[in-house]
Amino acid sequence: MAFTSRTLGLARVAITAAGRVIDNVVRTLTAAWVKAWDAIVEALTAALERLLTGAQQWPGRRTLDRDHALQGALNDAATALDALTDLIRSQVSAAASTLAQQAARDQAAIIDSQLPPGEQRADRTAFLQRAIDAITARTRQRITALTRPLTRDADTAMRRELVRGVTLGRNPRDTARRMLSNLEHAFNGGLNRALTIARTETLDAYRQAAAAAQEDSRGVLSGWIWLAKLDSRGCPACWAMHGTEHPLTEPGPLGHPQCRCSRAPRTKSWRDLGFDLDEPEDLIPDAETLFRALPREQQLQIMGAARLALFDQGAIAWRDLARRRSNDGWRDDFAVTPVRDLTRSA
Ligand SMILES: [Zn+2]
Repeated sequence: MAFTSRTLGLARVAITAAGRVIDNVVRTLTAAWVKAWDAIVEALTAALERLLTGAQQWPGRRTLDRDHALQGALNDAATALDALTDLIRSQVSAAASTLAQQAARDQAAIIDSQLPPGEQRADRTAFLQRAIDAITARTRQRITALTRPLTRDADTAMRRELVRGVTLGRNPRDTARRMLSNLEHAFNGGLNRALTIARTETLDAYRQAAAAAQEDSRGVLSGWIWLAKLDSRGCPACWAMHGTEHPLTEPGPLGHPQCRCSRAPRTKSWRDLGFDLDEPEDLIPDAETLFRALPREQQLQIMGAARLALFDQGAIAWRDLARRRSNDGWRDDFAVTPVRDLTRSA
């Protein structure tokens, strides 16, 4: 029951540390992608410039298909993407495993911080090992499945760009450069997807392990609290979900991609736990009160003008800001309600 400043501090430190592990993976993957592109760009440029020299129009599909140098460069790109896919799998799986392990320890500390002094419980991490291993294995399978189409999709996108062509400039080198930028964009489409997978799957592994650890301590818990980082970069959905209480059996927080909210275990009241003691006051900040006290500029930054106007007029309630949506090929998430839907319900 008693969410003290120590509880909030521990929860914040825990999710920040998890975020750092994820940021490291993101940096490693981004660097590897840049390096891979650098390794193929020269051959690709040379092939394009030669194809375009003296050309009156963008070469047709047959010419492109028959060009050995160009096809060789594209094949090298596909090989590089395969290697990148292996790297995503190993990096993300390792991070998920680290985070799942960490999540179990974090929950123990957060729960202990809410109990009376001297009532700390035994370390349960060893009991949880099997659940943690299962989460890690499931995450690895998901990452493998999600990354399977990456090479094929980026390869297809690059070939489509080539067939579509670009307007010929006077200088074949300029034309080649413009096409290269389109190809790089197609190649990097794989990176964007890889980063989304890295961010969401690792954090979900953390959340699942937190849920397993909380389930293991269900005797002392009443549920879990959705904690968001309440700053001007936070989205309205996360602001609105902050502080909501959920049953332990409910998975989550079902944050949107890039969301870094966490589930904090909440203990039962000290009296319910059998301690005949008055407990300290609950300190979970009320997000709506905090939001209303923010400078105008920050309110605008978080909500946007249209949403903020509806909120100011009282046309929408705080809870209307977040909406659960179902997604193709991915779990449900809570995302910000589009303004057009807010206007409809207002
Ligand atoms: Zn969030």
